[in-house]
Amino acid sequence: MTRTRKRFPPRGTDWPTLQRALTDMKSGDIDWRGGRAPLFVFRNDDETWRVGRDAFMEYFTENALGRGRAFFSVGRMETEILDFGLDLLHAPEGGQGAMTSGGSESIFVAMKAARDAHRAARGVGRETALNLVMPVTGHPAFDKAAQAMDIEVRRAGLGEDRRADVTAMRALIDADTMALVGSAPCFPHGVVDPIDEIGALAQETGIWLHVDACVGGWILPFFEMNGRDVRRFDFRVPGVRSISADLHKFGFCPKPASTVFWRDGADMERATFFADAWPNGPFGTPTIAGTRPGGAVAGAWAVLNHLGVEGYREAAGRLAAMTDAWIARIGAMPELTLWARPDLSIVNFGSEAVDIFKVSEHMQARGWLPGLTRRPKGIHLMLSMFHEPVLDDYAADLEQCIALARADPAAPATLAADYGR
Ligand SMILES: *Cc1c(COP(=O)(O)O)cnc(C)c1O
Repeated sequence: MTRTRKRFPPRGTDWPTLQRALTDMKSGDIDWRGGRAPLFVFRNDDETWRVGRDAFMEYFTENALGRGRAFFSVGRMETEILDFGLDLLHAPEGGQGAMTSGGSESIFVAMKAARDAHRAARGVGRETALNLVMPVTGHPAFDKAAQAMDIEVRRAGLGEDRRADVTAMRALIDADTMALVGSAPCFPHGVVDPIDEIGALAQETGIWLHVDACVGGWILPFFEMNGRDVRRFDFRVPGVRSISADLHKFGFCPKPASTVFWRDGADMERATFFADAWPNGPFGTPTIAGTRPGGAVAGAWAVLNHLGVEGYREAAGRLAAMTDAWIARIGAMPELTLWARPDLSIVNFGSEAVDIFKVSEHMQARGWLPGLTRRPKGIHLMLSMFHEPVLDDYAADLEQCIALARADPAAPATLAADYGR
């Protein structure tokens, strides 16, 4: 498919016309407001959304890069957001954090710190090829960081419950292993890895443990406060040295906003990129990004303060109840198998009776964007409050699509595009 390249517009266009064009273009997108996107967007309620958006717009122009020299209010909000996170994740005194543009960036800077810590502790340099060890369910953001820093990624298998198999992780470790990784929860199956066991392994071997709580970091603590059975994954677990936690997922804050936390402030120094070679002198950030949106800081600060512990506990309660309802409904369909019992609101299921990708194709034809897992083959849903009202519609379509797929098993199922494309 070729496309004619558009010419740079010779003349300007007024805003009302552009606004109409935006609305028009949007009409071809997935109906995410109607709960048809099982990832990418997150919702608590209208009021939380409005608070995040309005706060973002208040700081539309401010640049968080200038947090210490110009926009003191942005610096103050950021410090408070990080205080809240350190508190929530039980960091000891001396713990520190940084705000980033997303989980991928949080993970990148954590892996840079782990690499530099390993090099310093073992007295090795660039000549030594390093590796990181994680379960097969680890997010591709680790592969990105590893590709950029010439680190080998070693992926271990899972236990029956699809949590990391720590014995298998142990078998992959050698003298050049710079980090162990566990997820809370992992994206594919929604289960929290046995961080306590990985932490014990980290302590025994002296290897850095990073917990990827991009999905759960800002909401699982409230599941725990509500008395839901959640495995410990935070700084209470000995051996956990850094944690990534996305505000723009189940923190319900506007994009782009994530956090990365360090048990020991000295590790944040290792994460910091510092340069002093150009005419302007020293330049250092604990992030990859230079310029960062002040709006993301203000949006997160406002949403966290708006909801407070009470608001997040209420959100966690509703998420848990909704997930239970979805699991019960899907689990009751005889053709389907749940691939895991999720700890948060990620539902992953397949089938031994029917080609689940074919089911997913029929669902897509009805406007449901498919999330998929390939090993094992399954449908993947990351639910937030967008999905609370649509369970009945989804279940009815799912039943019909299973019947359609069974009726015509010969037709080949084509896979949906990769994530991000
Ligand atoms: C979303 C996600 C990431 C990456 O976060 P981005 O904000 O998309 O960069 C990392 N780990 C897990 C488990 C995730 O779900």
